[in-house]
Amino acid sequence: MKNLNVGIYGLGLIGGSLAKALSRSSPELTIMGYDRSRKRLHMSLEDGSITEVLRGNKYKEVDVLFLAIPVERSKEVGRKLIAKLRTDAILTDCGSVKGPICDELSEYTKGPFFIGGHPIAGTEKSGYENCFPDLFKSRVVFLTPYKGTPASKIRMVKSLWKRTGARVLEVGAGYHDHVFAFVSHLPHIVAYSLVHAVATFDSALPLGYSAGGFKDFTRIASSDPTMWSEIMVENKREIVMALRHFKKNLSQLEALIREEDVPGMNRYFNLSKKKRDSI
Ligand code: NAD
Repeated sequence: MKNLNVGIYGLGLIGGSLAKALSRSSPELTIMGYDRSRKRLHMSLEDGSITEVLRGNKYKEVDVLFLAIPVERSKEVGRKLIAKLRTDAILTDCGSVKGPICDELSEYTKGPFFIGGHPIAGTEKSGYENCFPDLFKSRVVFLTPYKGTPASKIRMVKSLWKRTGARVLEVGAGYHDHVFAFVSHLPHIVAYSLVHAVATFDSALPLGYSAGGFKDFTRIASSDPTMWSEIMVENKREIVMALRHFKKNLSQLEALIREEDVPGMNRYFNLSKKKRDSI
């Protein structure tokens, strides 16, 4: 692969980690970056994660542009950015929800090209201040290309993600959003609502008494509230369906407890344990 010019738009946790991973693994790449926060832009220039600021006619030099800003703004910003690229260039994104942006940019299969992406990596912390080059190591990145996207363009994006240590899989955008409503979005809802329930209970609950369980289980309730509110809106349909299914399961368990149905609870917990142990 020739030495590519890579652009990264949004230098927060994901974009910053990508810049650090690529600059470390592939010094032959030119990495241009932009963030509306001057502080983050300067930090990434200073530590050498990016070599240049992405602005003006620099967009015409970019071969692959990664969009790594909050999902809610990604459609509008993505549309503006792709219009600045050469016709052989690629825009890809990192958003946690894929349907809305893939629908918005579905005409971009002939060049410039849009290829949806989602790295399954992250922490409950955000911003360039918390990024690190190994974030994607041994993680999976999902790409959601259109049927008409040329294989050579998909290979190019794949090869860049592989340089971060990630494995890359291709799925449909709709399937991605259905699965992630269950495996990522619902766990965040449960963690947030559990902490909310404790915080709003009418007698003070001393959380200092909690052993690992409460703390481990609710770690993700420390995630960025704005980012998660936006994800809820972007994947509303799938999330509401997943939530409905979860509530049914919770009510089942409540009934078993009320009825002191120990064999029933055992069956319920055993099924869960078996599934969890198989992961
Ligand atoms: P972040 O808040 O750490 O970083 C976002 C960056 O984008 C910030 O530096 C912000 O200044 C910049 N930004 C916002 N709007 C901008 C705009 N209009 N123009 C230029 N810069 C702008 O967020 P993040 O965790 O890096 O998330 C980025 C994307 O990655 C999101 O779409 C998110 O869904 C996705 N993602 C996040 C995680 C995670 O766990 N954090 C995991 C996988 C995917």
